[in-house]
Amino acid sequence: MRVARLDAPARQGSLRRHNLGLVLRELAVAGPLARAELARRTGLTKATISAYVEALQAAGIVEEAPGAAVAVPSRGRPASPVRLGSGAPVAVGVELGVDFVSACVTAPTGEVVGMLRTPRDQRSGDPRDRLAEAADDVAGLVASLALGAGRVVGLGVAFPGVVGPDGRIRSAPNLPGWNGLDVGRGLAAHLGRLGSGERLVVETGNEADLAALGELWFGEHPELADFALVSAEVGVGAGIVVGGRLFTGATGAAGELGHLTVDPDGPACGCGSKGCLERYAGLVALLEGSGTADIGGLRAAADRGEPRAVSVLARAGTALGVAAAALVNLLDVPVLVLGGIYAELAPHLAGPLAAELQIRAVRHLWDPVRLVTARLGAEAAVRGAAGLVHDRVLDDPATYLPEVLG
Ligand SMILES: [Zn+2]
Repeated sequence: MRVARLDAPARQGSLRRHNLGLVLRELAVAGPLARAELARRTGLTKATISAYVEALQAAGIVEEAPGAAVAVPSRGRPASPVRLGSGAPVAVGVELGVDFVSACVTAPTGEVVGMLRTPRDQRSGDPRDRLAEAADDVAGLVASLALGAGRVVGLGVAFPGVVGPDGRIRSAPNLPGWNGLDVGRGLAAHLGRLGSGERLVVETGNEADLAALGELWFGEHPELADFALVSAEVGVGAGIVVGGRLFTGATGAAGELGHLTVDPDGPACGCGSKGCLERYAGLVALLEGSGTADIGGLRAAADRGEPRAVSVLARAGTALGVAAAALVNLLDVPVLVLGGIYAELAPHLAGPLAAELQIRAVRHLWDPVRLVTARLGAEAAVRGAAGLVHDRVLDDPATYLPEVLG
């Protein structure tokens, strides 16, 4: 138990938490750094940095970076950099897709320690059974990595639907049986034995939102701060990032691009409306319209110039452009990142999409919207989900890594 000292008011405790987070975040983002550089970047004194590094080293979270010693010209003495060590916490990211489960384990730097993807049809049977099945997959992955005890600090879960701020599924047109479930805590309950008990961070989010965070943090896109990641699997969604922060709206439903109306008299949609973008540019519309079995087949057919494939992608690109122009006019984002299956289909979608943006997006007059292809492919959402867990831990490391405070 920690006892407050008269000369150590509570405020000092919260300051220490904040400062520890600053130090860890710098090491996570920048990699190995000398103590002096850590002091410069955080604005803390070198003595404070040394004390923090010592505490973090004792906990195994930070270690000396061998072979990376940098000579200090003024003294000629090597300044040994430090880096996040083999005892640093890891986070688990999970994506519950309509017909698959994928998971990754990552370090705070974003480095992937382990990854799996397995076909699982989430539409059949009781969602609770599907959740238990996914938990077994994740447990198998974590066990295969032979991590030390207590290394898993949290679990981030990406889901193809609207996720409320309380973590519950509010709407999932493609997985209607899952409405109302708290999939993050449901999975965590199965996985409790892996982590740190009550301290396990649990985050649940929409898959397009978490894919946007994945691309923002780990996609190595230059100067990406305001953008929308437009992606599709069975559904279509947009993850909106403004000023480097995710915008999810008041109830988590921002970015429901798939249900933006492209044609008020168009075909009926599973959401109850008509003419939604998903009916033109979702996976089902693309495969049924082209007569192909999967996205690889559709891409190959379009590459060969087969008329059905070419025309279905032209129609999808146009519909996507109409919807994306509305999004750009509302949010004034300068970049659209094409993710999910759109990344693979980008060579065929980009032309008609850009043509609609040119006509419809107001900012095109002075600064045309840049179209960028996502770099992380199918890994974006799980990497973003795990990254979100690390982000929360780095905001308040002492809560989740109490051994550091002593
Ligand atoms: Zn709809």
